[in-house]
Amino acid sequence: MLTAMKFITTSLFFGSAAAFSLDMMKAGEYGAGLNRREIVDKTLAILGSAATAIISTPAISNAYSVPDLTYNYEALEPSIDSKTMTIHHDKHHATYVANLNKARDGKSDVPIVDLMADALEAGPAIRNNGGGHYNHAFFWAEMAPPDKAKSTKPSKQLTGLIKKSFGSMDVMKEKFEKQAAPGAVFGSGWVWVCVNRAGNKLEIVGTPNQDNPLMKGVIKDQIMIPILGLDVWEHAYYLKYQNRRTEYVSNWWNVVDWDKVSANCKYAVEKHAGVPMQG
Ligand code: MN
Repeated sequence: MLTAMKFITTSLFFGSAAAFSLDMMKAGEYGAGLNRREIVDKTLAILGSAATAIISTPAISNAYSVPDLTYNYEALEPSIDSKTMTIHHDKHHATYVANLNKARDGKSDVPIVDLMADALEAGPAIRNNGGGHYNHAFFWAEMAPPDKAKSTKPSKQLTGLIKKSFGSMDVMKEKFEKQAAPGAVFGSGWVWVCVNRAGNKLEIVGTPNQDNPLMKGVIKDQIMIPILGLDVWEHAYYLKYQNRRTEYVSNWWNVVDWDKVSANCKYAVEKHAGVPMQG
């Protein structure tokens, strides 16, 4: 459909350029006082504006988009460096979004969170790129510059669930770091703190590639609702930490916005559904 429309638009522009040349040629010597050079220039100018119009027209309207960060690229330093944030947000995330839009033929009529449950059934394009979009949107939103992050804290509800599920915040972090180690999530993937389906307990799980626990079939026979997630793909840390994934994970705690994680927790417990994301 879009391709067809583009073709028509292109034909119209190029058609009018051709018609212009033809009319000028027909209109006597070189027409309306223009010489051959001027006709060529004028034709090229029409073609140029056609090309500009085509390039500047968004290829797909009403499509998924990469949500803006609510902080600057360098704001998470020293935990995550500015260059990594720039490439990760502007290139990696943008690529997932572009490929998702292709796979969905430009339709964003379903909120991204609603594509998760049946992502495995929907096939690899939705699973990988839809997951990539949801996971990254989730990741940016749960982080804050260290000064701000320091002033945030888990809500009463979240603190209660952490105690009930792990005993303490320290034990939860320890288990999370263990799950984030290369031995547990081998290669690329994510680590999550989730509210279980019953909404009464937290669990820590790892998922490969761009899978997440909202996708049916990823975690045993159930779905879980992520409230905190960490990207452990090499692209998330390699520029600064190279092979030192463990160091990346332990520094990352300094940019976790616990107010946001608490809000995610509240949503998950009350709605029994994945937290909606912008974009
Ligand atoms: Mn990533």
